[in-house]
Amino acid sequence: MVSYNRFGLSRNVPEEVKRKVRQRCGFGCVICGNPIISYEHFDPPFRDARSHSADGITLLCGSCHQKTTMGLINKGTVAKYNADPSGLREDVSFGIDDLVGSVPPIVLMGSNRFRCTGEVIRVADRTVLGFEVEIGARPAVLINMRICDRNGRTMFEIVRNEVSISKANWDVVWRGQSLTVRRANYKILLLLKFMMPNAIKISRLDLISSGVRLRVRNNGDVVATFASGMQGQGTEGMQLIRGCCVDGVPCGLVVTENGRVALAASSWEAIER
Ligand SMILES: [Zn+2]
Repeated sequence: MVSYNRFGLSRNVPEEVKRKVRQRCGFGCVICGNPIISYEHFDPPFRDARSHSADGITLLCGSCHQKTTMGLINKGTVAKYNADPSGLREDVSFGIDDLVGSVPPIVLMGSNRFRCTGEVIRVADRTVLGFEVEIGARPAVLINMRICDRNGRTMFEIVRNEVSISKANWDVVWRGQSLTVRRANYKILLLLKFMMPNAIKISRLDLISSGVRLRVRNNGDVVATFASGMQGQGTEGMQLIRGCCVDGVPCGLVVTENGRVALAASSWEAIER
């Protein structure tokens, strides 16, 4: 539901304004560099804003935003970091100066290698994980991610690095060049590391979306397990995705509604449990 302030301004920041803010702030939280962010009106604060001016909006991660709400970080500190964002000072955000051209990043997932123009993983016709390149004064890789429950309802969604839906407590931590996503007090769902100049290594993956569990094993196999009765098709079983090399296709790994794994280059094997 869209909320409005007393001047009738919607909380929805237009995409073009978001793009300007991303570019200016170095694609990450201005304080700590975490690339998973929200757009925060800081000058003036949202309750006093009459328009979405890029200059008055900054990027904060969930943790730094919480600290500002609790008063542990004051407005002056936010303004100071906004003027000198972490992502532009250090090599800490997904804003990268030496991305090679505009090609999509190479995604290394276990023993598999994908370079996709669209998503990396798609389950039941919904994006689970994808990366896109934003070209601008500073090119950057933007992350899209969505976790759905068995009925296809979105529980957690990141759109172009912004947490847009969060129906539980999710923890997103950025350290060095590594991003970890987990449900609070729960195991790691995703651990990826940005490898210069243009590769992303998914070293840990264990998530369930739309009744499909996807894991990366230590030996490099990607395993897709289907819950009994997924999408009403009664499919149950497991498939391995191993040694797959895909380049220039719209999507790397597609799991269809009836629980089948499809790959552009088929070097996967199916195992019935
Ligand atoms: Zn932060």
